[in-house]
Amino acid sequence: MTLTIPFDNSYARLPNSFFARQAPVPVRAPQLIAFNADLAQILRVTSGDVQEMAEAFAGNALPDGAEPIAQLYSGHQFGSYNPQLGDGRAVLLGETVGTDGVRRDIQLKGSGPTPFSRQGDGRAWLGPVLREYVVSEAMHALGIRTTRALAAVETGEIVLRERPMPGAILTRVAESHLRVGTFQVFAARGQLDSLRRLTDYAINRHYPGVDGPMGLLRAVVETQSQLIAAWMSVGFIHGVMNTDNCSIAGETIDYGPCAFMDTYHPNTVYSSIDRMGRYAYSNQPDIAVWNVAQLATALIQHVEDKEAAVEEATEIVHAMPEMLQQNWLTRFRAKIGLATGDEGDLEMISDLLTRMAHNQADFTNTFRALGGDAARDQFTDPKTFDHWSDGWRVRLEREKNPEAVMAAANPAFIPRNHRVEQMIQAAVQGDYGPFHRLNSVLSQPYEDQSEAADLMRPPSESEVVHATFCGT
Ligand code: AMP
Ligand code: MG
Repeated sequence: MTLTIPFDNSYARLPNSFFARQAPVPVRAPQLIAFNADLAQILRVTSGDVQEMAEAFAGNALPDGAEPIAQLYSGHQFGSYNPQLGDGRAVLLGETVGTDGVRRDIQLKGSGPTPFSRQGDGRAWLGPVLREYVVSEAMHALGIRTTRALAAVETGEIVLRERPMPGAILTRVAESHLRVGTFQVFAARGQLDSLRRLTDYAINRHYPGVDGPMGLLRAVVETQSQLIAAWMSVGFIHGVMNTDNCSIAGETIDYGPCAFMDTYHPNTVYSSIDRMGRYAYSNQPDIAVWNVAQLATALIQHVEDKEAAVEEATEIVHAMPEMLQQNWLTRFRAKIGLATGDEGDLEMISDLLTRMAHNQADFTNTFRALGGDAARDQFTDPKTFDHWSDGWRVRLEREKNPEAVMAAANPAFIPRNHRVEQMIQAAVQGDYGPFHRLNSVLSQPYEDQSEAADLMRPPSESEVVHATFCGT
C-alpha cells in the first residue's frame, strides 16, 4: 500500500493574492507518532508504510496532487488590529472531498518558515502538537465542531523555545481555514474584488444557497452561537479568541493555550498571555459577538447600498447574544436533565452554577454526578447542593427521562490539563503510552470506563496547571 490523498484544491485556484506558494521545509529525521485511521477513512486517504507516512506528514515527500500554499489573513489580536498575519508556520497541502461529501483542508502545522513568518522559526515543538492532537480529537468525540488531527510526526530536529525542545509537526484537518481575519485583510486594504471573490467562495463552500454577504453573516452568527454554547457546556476555554482564530465554518480552531476547567469559576483564565482575562471562560460569548461584528464590518465594505447594509448587519449582530443565550440554555437544561423548557430554568441553572463557584465544585464531575447521589460530595458544603436540589427534583417530575438526557450531555472524561501536561512530559522522555491511552479513553467521553477512573479525578494540589502557553 502507498499513501494516497485524492486532492482537489479549490483554494489554490483562487487569485495569487490570496496566498503564497510555499513548500514545507524538509526535516532531518521524521518519525511517525500517530496516524488517525478513522479520520483517514472519511478523507479517503489510504495509508502507506510507516516511513512513507513519516516523510509525507513531515513535508519531506509530498503525496501526488499536493499544492502547498501559505494562506494570507490578518486579524485582531487581543483587540488590536494586526494588518498582516498569515500562515507563518503552516502550509495547506490541499483539499479532499470525503466519503461524507464534505470538502476539507489538509494542513501541515510546524512545517517551516513562510513569507508570513515575521520573526518566527515556522516550527512547533512536541508539546503543542500532542496537545492539539489530543484536545481536538477529544472535542470531536464530545460532539463539538472542531478541526481534527490526521497525523503527528517528530522531526528529529531541535527547536529553541525557553529550552531546546524536540520538534514536531501536526497534520490538521479543517472544513476550511477561512477565518474572520481572511475577510479583514482584503477589507482593510480596500481590495474589494478579492473580498467579493472570498465571499462567494465561502458561501459556496460552507453555506450554499445563502444570499450574499449579509446571508453569510447570518450563517456565521448561527454557527458561532452554537459553537460557543457547546464550549461553555463542557467548560472549555479557548484562550485566544482572536479574529484570526475565529473560523467561518464554525469549527473550534487553533488549540494554543486552551484548557478545560477543573474547579468551576466563571472568571477562569489559563493562558499566560491573557493578563486582562479578555478570553476568560464567561467572556467567551461576548467575545464571539465582538468577533462577528468585525466580520460584519469587513463584509459591509463591498455592499453597494452601505446605509441599508449597516442597518441589516447591525440587526444581525445584535440578535446574536439572544441566539447564544438560547443555545446556552438548551445545553445547560440538558445538563440538569431537562428536555422541556420552563420559565424558571435559567434561574435554576444560574443558581446551581453560583453555588458551584462558591464551593470549589469540579465542573465536569458535578454535572456527571447529578444522575446519581454523589453530586453533593463535590461541594465544600454539601448542604448548599441539597438546598438547590430540593427544587430541582420537583422540576424533574415533569421530565420523561432525565437520566438519559443528563448522560448524553455530561461527559465523564475531558482532557484535563494536568493529564495533558503529564502526557507531554512522558512523550518528551520517549514514552507515548499516556498519549495513546488519553486518545483511546477520550474517544468515548460519555461512557463509564471503570479502568480509567484515574482520568476522571481532578488534579491534586501539586498537579494543578496554573498557566498554559501558546505553541510559539
Ligand atoms: P497562532 O498563535 O497560531 O494563532 O499564530 C498567530 C500568528 O503568529 C500567525 O500569523 C502565525 O503564523 C504566527 N506564528 C506563530 N508561531 C509561529 C512560529 N513558530 N513561526 C512563525 N510564525 C509563527
Ligand atoms: Mg491562529
